[in-house]
Amino acid sequence: MAVKRIQDYVGGEWIDSLAGETLDVLNPATGETLGQVPLGGEADVSRAVDAAHKAYPEWRRVPVIDRARYLFNFKFLLEKHADELARILTIEHGKTIDESVGSVRRGIECVEVACGAPTLMMGRALEDVAAGIDTSEIRQPMGVFACIAPFNFPAMVPLWFYPFAVACGNTFVCKPSEQVPYCQELLFKLIHDAGFPPGVLNMVNGGKDAVNAILDNPLIKGVSFVGSSPVAEYVYRRAAESGKRVQALGGAKNFLVVMPDADMDAALDAVTGSAYGCAGERCLAGTVVLTVGDCHQKIRDGLVERLAKIRVGDGTRDGIMMGPVISAAHKARVLDYIQKGIDEGAELVVDGRDVKPESDGGGFFIGPTLFDGVTPEMVVASEEIFGPVLCLMNVASLDQALATMKAHPLGNASSIFTTSGRHARTFAYEVEASMTAVNLGVAAPMSFFSFGGAKGSFMGDLKAHGREIFDFYTDRKVVISRW
Ligand code: NAD
Repeated sequence: MAVKRIQDYVGGEWIDSLAGETLDVLNPATGETLGQVPLGGEADVSRAVDAAHKAYPEWRRVPVIDRARYLFNFKFLLEKHADELARILTIEHGKTIDESVGSVRRGIECVEVACGAPTLMMGRALEDVAAGIDTSEIRQPMGVFACIAPFNFPAMVPLWFYPFAVACGNTFVCKPSEQVPYCQELLFKLIHDAGFPPGVLNMVNGGKDAVNAILDNPLIKGVSFVGSSPVAEYVYRRAAESGKRVQALGGAKNFLVVMPDADMDAALDAVTGSAYGCAGERCLAGTVVLTVGDCHQKIRDGLVERLAKIRVGDGTRDGIMMGPVISAAHKARVLDYIQKGIDEGAELVVDGRDVKPESDGGGFFIGPTLFDGVTPEMVVASEEIFGPVLCLMNVASLDQALATMKAHPLGNASSIFTTSGRHARTFAYEVEASMTAVNLGVAAPMSFFSFGGAKGSFMGDLKAHGREIFDFYTDRKVVISRW
């Protein structure tokens, strides 16, 4: 990848950002500079929103089946460029090629589901609500929508939103994470080649100034945010103040419960993949294992054995199982959490701080790290670390596991490992985290189901993709007629 300054995509053209300030984008596996991202602000956002606003009246009149055809073109180009996209993803983010391929696939699936808009956007009707009076409820697009994305899924997360928004007849402004702008750069080249009319889909690069400009812009009807909980809460409040619809997906602290009756080998493989896949930088990553009863030692020993086999290094290399974390600053933050765990008296069973990565040096690596003897009050058990650090906690019963989870303010995802249908049912019934799995480590809803957590992990009422995204991106108009 050549070193370069990224441009914005506005009104069907690539244009220079008006921003003076830029941020270096680094390959986290090597520390090398890939290029610069402009930190755009109000003027950049306004240009993009104006282009989207201008494109809207004509786009909403394009029949839904024809709007879907643009998405079919886009899907075809995505398939053709999927490997290239996955490679860019690994270079700018650090996750392994296999992980990148998986997340690109999940993104493409969103486009596939959005192609079903002619069916999924349908309203409903009832004749003779009173003598000779008929009523229909139709879904109409609303105008310009925007999304603000996190760094950890650079290709996939924006695809949770814009295919659905434009399929419904809205126009769109995407702000990628300033830490990983290159996947969206390629995606917008494909959008251009797919032939979408100018202004239907736009992209602005930037950080918090661009976010504030999106939140305050009166022409934007709704905002989809994905990122950490403090920023999610801020976005939720500020966007609501200017009358927008908001869905704000925040951070996570996900608990994995292992019952003594579980298939231990399968549970251990799933827990390892959940906690250390993507170097723990997943909102669905398991971060605390609650071992119930007497299975604790088996889980601890099994994890130690598995962690010793994890090959850490540059994700572009064959056989690497875990890449770096995103930046030097984030690595320092995770190391700080490990130190806090030690200071609070947790037992550091596997120490990832002195890892020897397979890379050309200069990257931001932390090896798999495991704490035991963790209690709920400890910082490592309560705050989101977002790195390859897993905590073990032993509890006496499923009820105690559920109570521990209930006491936590976040509720994104959770899992139970058990061979008992009764335990599985009780768990699914009682647990508050709204993405939950039985005998799987990562509770990831596919694009035809909705995605989003509960409690402090989600603000809003309509979640990402699935059926309810069609509610988020449309107004339901009721027409009552007598002829
Ligand atoms: P982040 O909150 O730092 O940034 C997310 C977006 O907000 C970025 O586009 C960034 O430019 C912007 N931003 C950052 N600080 C801001 C501020 N002070 N004011 C206005 N805008 C600001 O998140 P991140 O570090 O990029 O991503 C990791 C976080 O995202 C984790 O907490 C993770 O759990 C969460 N996440 C959640 C989900 C989910 O589905 N709930 C999915 C992916 C990631």
